[in-house]
Amino acid sequence: MKNHKCQICGGNFEPGFTTISKDNDTNLIVFRKVPALICSNCGEEYIDDKVLTKIEKKLSKRKDKSEQIEILEYS
Ligand SMILES: [Zn+2]
Repeated sequence: MKNHKCQICGGNFEPGFTTISKDNDTNLIVFRKVPALICSNCGEEYIDDKVLTKIEKKLSKRKDKSEQIEILEYS
């Protein structure tokens, strides 16, 4: 990541964790403990493309897709 300044407020990003959810019509999948950069000033979150790619892979590898709501941990 080249720019470590928040694009909204100019604050500094700091490493942390966030929770994201994916809704694909049949399931709602919640990912916890997703590594992210979080603005220390306004709370804006930046998630790396590599992390998002890994989440997409995890989604495609799920075998049991019967659960309507699934909560997963990223790591
Ligand atoms: Zn900010």
